[in-house]
Amino acid sequence: MAKRDYYDVLGVSRGADADEIKKAYRKMAIKYHPDKNEGDKAAEEKFKEAAEAYEVLSTPEKRQRYDQFGHAANASSPNGGGYGGGNMNMDDIFSQFGDIFGGGGSPFDGFFGGGRQGGGGRRVARGSNLRIKVRLTLEEIANGAEKKIKVNKQIVCKTCDGTGAKDKSSFQTCKTCGGQGSVRRVTNTILGQMQTTSTCPTCNGEGSTITSKCNVCHGDGVVRGEETITINVPAGVSEGMQLSMSGKGNAAPRGGVPGDLIILIEEIPHETLKRDGNNVIYDLHVNFVDAALGTSVEVPTIDGKAKIKIEPGTQGGKILRLKGKGVPEVNSYHRGDQLIHVNIWTPKALSREEREILEKLQSSPNFKPNPGKNEKSFFERMKEYFE
Ligand SMILES: [Zn+2]
Ligand SMILES: [Zn+2]
Repeated sequence: MAKRDYYDVLGVSRGADADEIKKAYRKMAIKYHPDKNEGDKAAEEKFKEAAEAYEVLSTPEKRQRYDQFGHAANASSPNGGGYGGGNMNMDDIFSQFGDIFGGGGSPFDGFFGGGRQGGGGRRVARGSNLRIKVRLTLEEIANGAEKKIKVNKQIVCKTCDGTGAKDKSSFQTCKTCGGQGSVRRVTNTILGQMQTTSTCPTCNGEGSTITSKCNVCHGDGVVRGEETITINVPAGVSEGMQLSMSGKGNAAPRGGVPGDLIILIEEIPHETLKRDGNNVIYDLHVNFVDAALGTSVEVPTIDGKAKIKIEPGTQGGKILRLKGKGVPEVNSYHRGDQLIHVNIWTPKALSREEREILEKLQSSPNFKPNPGKNEKSFFERMKEYFE
């Protein structure tokens, strides 16, 4: 059968603007909606035809191609340059409705029973999401951690296996909806009678009712309980990050889908190491004699102690770098560095003997500050530090 002209389908002129096209389609969609015309094949065809016409005429490029070439535009290039109309299924059509009937405040709200997700009918209950905090040390963050956490939550009732019923014979098909989970209702509207579908109030969409309830959960199918959950935290996470474990949240009433477990990461501050992104910072203090003569010192790192060399004549503010001793990036092999900030320690109190020695040195020519051209400025050191 030859396709009808899209403008004829919607009953608009070729010069119609976007608003006219939308209005015309809205009228058609309501007139031929399957909920209003159950079992009417001709109405369904008209409904699909209108949706297809709207799809093309409401998209400027598609409309332009259609205006130029007609239906031939599609036949000549089914995948690429055509206007792409013609292959809509019912789901596509219904998903278009958000656009046509708007999200709120429109007089058409609720006409179609809140959409048709999942093909209508029985509703599946969903457990709520559960949020927990996990506190990690810097070492755990750097290496990744397996945490076993006891979670207090809604769990499936073992006595009734989550059904909420005392035994198998306690189930009865819902009399209100006949097991469908939904009921149809006819409403009078400005556009005539409309049929709407809503969740069955008797069984809450479950399709069956329970004649005698489980003694333990009183028909809920869930009880309060504890579950130990093993969480694999990847290396490199940081404060405030959220991980999610699908299906590990609260169990849903009577065999529904459990919610998710949302894990909020908290960092336990390290005693001596500070994290800065993927780098780790350590503040080292050496006295000015060690800085002048050179020495070797032990510094803490994430992987234990490391020995570093302080060159003779080291100046305060110098930053030493331990490559790869930082925190890894999540899902990457790249690891940050440990930066060691050298502070020169000046004694705050002196004995008489110490004072005498230092006074001898005070006027010595080498003790007069004389930063040469090779000395890095504060600004240069900071630049190096942040790169
Ligand atoms: Zn039970
Ligand atoms: Zn029911």
